[in-house]
Amino acid sequence: MSHLEIEQHDAKRLAAGYKKSFRLVEILAILSFWSLTVAIIARAYPFHHTHPWVLAAGVLSGFVFADFVSGFVHWMADTWGSADMPVLGKSLVRPFREHHVDPKAMTRHDYIETNGANCLVSLPVAAGVLFIPLDIEGWVSFSLFSLVTIGSMVFFVMWTNQIHKWSHLEPEETPLPLRVLQKLHVVLPPVHHRIHHKAPYDRYYCITTGWLNWPLSKLGFYRHSERVVTALFGLIPRRDDIGLKAALQLAPLVLEEKPRPATHQP
Ligand SMILES: [Zn+2]
Ligand SMILES: [Zn+2]
Repeated sequence: MSHLEIEQHDAKRLAAGYKKSFRLVEILAILSFWSLTVAIIARAYPFHHTHPWVLAAGVLSGFVFADFVSGFVHWMADTWGSADMPVLGKSLVRPFREHHVDPKAMTRHDYIETNGANCLVSLPVAAGVLFIPLDIEGWVSFSLFSLVTIGSMVFFVMWTNQIHKWSHLEPEETPLPLRVLQKLHVVLPPVHHRIHHKAPYDRYYCITTGWLNWPLSKLGFYRHSERVVTALFGLIPRRDDIGLKAALQLAPLVLEEKPRPATHQP
């Protein structure tokens, strides 16, 4: 059987792509995001007596949606584009490339580097949700459910990278309450996430809870999406992540759902 000839970017070069100037943007994004979170809670809180089940259902739905969003964004960043693209390359794609080459690097990142980018992309949605009117007669439950669901979704999307980072800690570095949450699969369990880290990194993209990984895999969601993108734009999936050679070896097999060749890594 032939081997996949994976070629990845240089870890040091990828790590050097994190610029100090971007850090200031991240700090502002984190402060703004937490302020918006407080504002969203303040809007929903007065309904805790009259609509407790709407609030609970909204929080849970947002939690599930966040897992989907985490997987979809992760799939986009892993599969398409390049770390050298302007703006999105440095801020979004580069950390994903670095993560496949050096999965432990993120465990050395501080709170700002871990969460800044996610706060930044969540900001417009978190701000927009505040404009949902909650006083239209007959629509209060629906509006409240929408507000809480979207608010909860952006909140947990913001936590995604932190949860992902925790899944890469050694067991002895992981505090006991967190190990319990991972074991109960409330947050992404390390063993579950290892499935994604097997080259060529083409499955199990969800990294908040990982609950949707199995159903999306069974549905062939990413394969179908890749087929559509390739048919429309002629792009080769994972070209920038695993190198053109391996991506070309893999693309027709993935797109036709055939068994893939064994991975060869030095
Ligand atoms: Zn990945
Ligand atoms: Zn990972």
